[in-house]
Amino acid sequence: MRKRILTGDRPTGKLHLGHYVGSLLNRTKLQDDYETYVLIADVQALTDNFNTPEKVRQNVLEVAMDNLSVGVDPNKSNIYIQSLIPEVAELTVFYSNLVTISRLQRNPTVKTEIAQKKALFGEDGGSVTYGFLGYPVSQAADITAFNADLVPVGEDQLPLIEQCREIVRKFNSLYGNVLKEPQALVGEVARLKGLDGNTKMGKSLGNAIYLSDTDDETYEKIRNAVTDPKKIRKDDPADPYICMVGYYHSIFSKPEYEQVCEECKAGKRGCVDCKKQLAKNINSELAQIREKRRYYEQHQSEVKDILAQGTKNARIITSQTLRNVKEAMKIDYFK
Ligand code: ATP
Ligand code: MG
Repeated sequence: MRKRILTGDRPTGKLHLGHYVGSLLNRTKLQDDYETYVLIADVQALTDNFNTPEKVRQNVLEVAMDNLSVGVDPNKSNIYIQSLIPEVAELTVFYSNLVTISRLQRNPTVKTEIAQKKALFGEDGGSVTYGFLGYPVSQAADITAFNADLVPVGEDQLPLIEQCREIVRKFNSLYGNVLKEPQALVGEVARLKGLDGNTKMGKSLGNAIYLSDTDDETYEKIRNAVTDPKKIRKDDPADPYICMVGYYHSIFSKPEYEQVCEECKAGKRGCVDCKKQLAKNINSELAQIREKRRYYEQHQSEVKDILAQGTKNARIITSQTLRNVKEAMKIDYFK
């Protein structure tokens, strides 16, 4: 039997370069060897976007189109919508007995996200709902509903996978060996920083280059990137290692990177040209993806059919897992 992958994104915005290097590339590579399920986590998105349901709804299709344009192949992978899998909601209820409130409050991902919300929206942004605090439990349900072996994620998600593994161990020790402990797999760039110098490019952080941006939008964002503040004139020497443009060159301009650094340090490289070169490289890497995306934008009913089929396939697995879980928990009445 082929091993299984569960991975996914929150429909809180379009996907960006962080997703591309952090998890999307791994998805497209591994879908040949693994039975792959790609989750569009609308229930999780609602935990901190419950007051903007229209935004979440719109972005379900956007995230699906982003995945398809990058090369997630609907003939190999199943893309599905989380809220259409009621088994996951049921598992979440059962697992919520297996994790303490203080453990959730200590989860580093949850702590960071609460701090980010405070920074963006003031003290109010830091007020935490029961649903938001509990989202690691529902993420454990997402993963175990498929008994996934591997979960391709960005580095910010690692504490959530660890939390899932703890829940699995607790469940198995109490009720019998039913669930699998998943392994996380981080991408080539575990956490892509923002052009603003933030430690993470994030949809909710306002610092993202989206896969669907135009060439000009991409250049405009790069033009505003944080650079070495000591460099004022074109021929001032500068430090490429504290410059976000330098950092992005190290990822998206690999063959030229050494030369970029040498010229920058020697004052032989103006920032304008350096930014143009970076924009050109990123835009050419994304050109095919953007073209494919335009196709899906014009064929949205095809995208909806792909989601409906993916969801149908997903439920075959999740309903079997729920049966096993209920049997182990001795709540399988009237079999
Ligand atoms: P939000 O700000 O709404 O949480 P996000 O940008 O963090 O959005 P998610 O949908 O939460 O995106 O994340 C989907 C996947 O992409 C996760 O596995 C996450 O770790 C990964 N990811 C997100 N941002 C980055 C990044 N900057 N670098 C690497 N991986 C990332
Ligand atoms: Mg996130």
